[in-house]
Amino acid sequence: MGDIKEIFEKLDIAWDVGKEEKLLRYMDEILRLNEQINLTAIKDREEFLQKHYLDSLLCVGSDEFKKARRIIDVGTGAGFPGVPLAVAFPEKEFLLVDSLNKRVKIVAEICESLSIDNVCVLHGRAEELARRKDLREAFDLCVSRAVANMSTLTEYCLPFVKVGGAFIAYKGPDCGEELAAAAKAIETLGGSLSGTEQPGESKGDEIPFRHTLVFIKKENPTGSKYPRKAGIPSKEPVK
Ligand code: SAM
Repeated sequence: MGDIKEIFEKLDIAWDVGKEEKLLRYMDEILRLNEQINLTAIKDREEFLQKHYLDSLLCVGSDEFKKARRIIDVGTGAGFPGVPLAVAFPEKEFLLVDSLNKRVKIVAEICESLSIDNVCVLHGRAEELARRKDLREAFDLCVSRAVANMSTLTEYCLPFVKVGGAFIAYKGPDCGEELAAAAKAIETLGGSLSGTEQPGESKGDEIPFRHTLVFIKKENPTGSKYPRKAGIPSKEPVK
């Protein structure tokens, strides 16, 4: 699984040289700027391809991703999973949000310089942005990787999703207990757990590193009480 073309082939994504060039240049810029500002713990290109690109793209085979047109990435950090998904699927629209302005600015600047035109980047906390009329229940899909425990994350993410849409959380391999603890939060926020998946599992161990994908369906509108004030969902997760 050495290069971007192989990753795309593995995941059945249409490859072209323009997409590959954008992803390579994005990686080089993040790794270059990482020497000045803390953007990612990953310093090596091969590891970057695996743990940022391949891992971010794991959801693309799902029906939830395939049918989504407008997608939000909550807590995108240095742009994951949002940027690789946006480059691979230029016909879909992405909003990337993060509470750390330094990271948001860098991601926005690199996306602009590489003409990744289907990405908008916004600074703010999920708890506050989800109260904006233009963002609340405005997305077909929310994705989020490595941001918070599942109860807290559900409160950050589900308010952005339209009824009938979905939320995909990228979680560690042993997330069973965390999911069980989040059952009440998922229901309270208007969702239901539709399943978990370890992409690549059925093809043997061809994908060496991967998150477990947790699929939540948005069944009902989120009550106006949620998300609660900034900081409360992490201090007092819904139980
Ligand atoms: N998703 C990226 C990834 O997987 O590489 C970044 C993960 S990083 C560990 C978590 C990110 O979530 C940080 O950039 C942090 O600023 C952001 N974050 C944490 N709480 C947030 C909140 N309430 N609203 C928006 N962003 C948040």
